[in-house]
Amino acid sequence: MLNMAKKIVIVGAGVAGVNAATKLVDNGYPGKDITIIDMGNDPYKRKPEEVMTGFLGAGGWSDGKLTYHTAIGGQLSKYVGEKKAMALMDEVINNFKRFHPKPEEVQCSNPDAEPDFIKPYFGLRLFPVWHVGTDYLHEIGKNWYDYLVSKGVNFIWNEKVFKIDFESRLVHFTYKNEFSEGAMEYDELIFGVGKSGIDFAQELQDEYHLETEPKSVQIGVRFEAPQKHFQKLIDVSYDFKLYRKFEDKGVSLRSFCTNNNAAYVAVEKTYGDNSYNGHAKKDKAYRNDMTNFGILMEINGISNPFEWSRNIVNKCQIKGKGLYYSPTRTVSQTSEGAEVEAFQIGLEELNDVRKTFKGYFEYIDDFIEDMKKVFPSLGDDWGVYIPEVKYLSPEPLVYDSDLALVDYPNVHFVGDALSARGITVSGAQGILAVEKFTKPVDHWADEWDNHTGDMVHFR
Ligand SMILES: Cc1cc2nc3c(=O)[nH]c(=O)nc-3n(C[C@H](O)[C@H](O)[C@H](O)COP(=O)(O)OP(=O)(O)OC[C@H]3O[C@@H](n4cnc5c(N)ncnc54)[C@H](O)[C@@H]3O)c2cc1C
Repeated sequence: MLNMAKKIVIVGAGVAGVNAATKLVDNGYPGKDITIIDMGNDPYKRKPEEVMTGFLGAGGWSDGKLTYHTAIGGQLSKYVGEKKAMALMDEVINNFKRFHPKPEEVQCSNPDAEPDFIKPYFGLRLFPVWHVGTDYLHEIGKNWYDYLVSKGVNFIWNEKVFKIDFESRLVHFTYKNEFSEGAMEYDELIFGVGKSGIDFAQELQDEYHLETEPKSVQIGVRFEAPQKHFQKLIDVSYDFKLYRKFEDKGVSLRSFCTNNNAAYVAVEKTYGDNSYNGHAKKDKAYRNDMTNFGILMEINGISNPFEWSRNIVNKCQIKGKGLYYSPTRTVSQTSEGAEVEAFQIGLEELNDVRKTFKGYFEYIDDFIEDMKKVFPSLGDDWGVYIPEVKYLSPEPLVYDSDLALVDYPNVHFVGDALSARGITVSGAQGILAVEKFTKPVDHWADEWDNHTGDMVHFR
């Protein structure tokens, strides 16, 4: 039957790691042979400010939007093809519903046609999204954790893995708050450290000279304007994704991570510099009727994308702050009522920014100009925070079938540590990595049909 002797160690109790463990125990793999090590807390102890670490990782405290399309959320179909990718995402969505205290409240929004008024200037990515509900994520986490514990899965909390010896198959972690060290042997390793472990992933890549695939540059601005100008589109797609592509130039642009209603621009400190992002508050008390989203360019063919982007980010700072440009507006407030940390610039400095972006800022200028045509009331009633950036670490080369490193076939990279950028793809990669250690058993059969939202009985 199953190879019971294999000790599986999962580094990171994030979306990918938890889905991997669930796939295993659902299929009869003994929980006692699975250990999950995480530097955060279990779902009962995890505090709201622990955004990135602990049970379900960044996904556990996220917006809870489960995207359901292979063109969104990172790479999956390139490994397994479209059909299998959708099936894996189904499993992840089913897991979130299964541990949801009120699964009937999980709603799917599925815009079915690009509205005519955005054509011919923009395309709109159309994809279904399952809304789990942020407030329920905590309860889901507890139910899910209880299930894995009941199946005998071992958890080691609050311990950071700082070294992995791929040759002797040993994971080294801090033990009891860094006073000593723990080490654990593995037969198979699932490496799912997410964004919070991106530096560690990079260290391993460097140490073992892992073969990697080059990544693109992802840079742009965070655009902000009163929501009323975009309402027509928000009514069609709440988290709209406008996009355009210049294939011959290796450049594509998309609006990224749209926030509405109670939408705030947030400063991200990366490598000592300011860049920008956005978030939305749920509480009506925070409503400011603003919309913000990234206008992100994906630029291919830059030889050292990381250094190239860092250099631009570093040059877009004045007096230790990032920049804000608007033809008419001033810097907005954060949800705490302070000014967003940004240095307001005029046209002259904006021209310097254009030079810093080495010609690529023109694409952003055009994007904004065309939005003014599509949303006529927008006019000059907008501002941009400069820059927004996504530093993508090079992606290690893995086998398609189980995401194992080509150089170390018992080490599987999954989730944001590989090529994912969202919950469904991360979870799906976790499942894919362990599938070969499982085989379906007939006692477990109820599934949700993610196309209709109905319960399907396989028994
Ligand atoms: C605020 C926010 C909102 C988001 N909203 C959405 C959304 O609505 N929809 C969506 O699809 N995606 C969203 N995302 C992205 C999504 O959460 C991630 O893509 C997903 O969680 C990645 O899963 P993962 O398992 O790879 O990593 P994570 O879920 O981040 O988990 C990684 C785990 O590894 C642990 N870890 C890291 N390093 C170590 C170490 N050295 N030793 C031990 N443990 C370690 C961490 O503690 C963490 O628990 C959001 C992200 C954030 C930050």
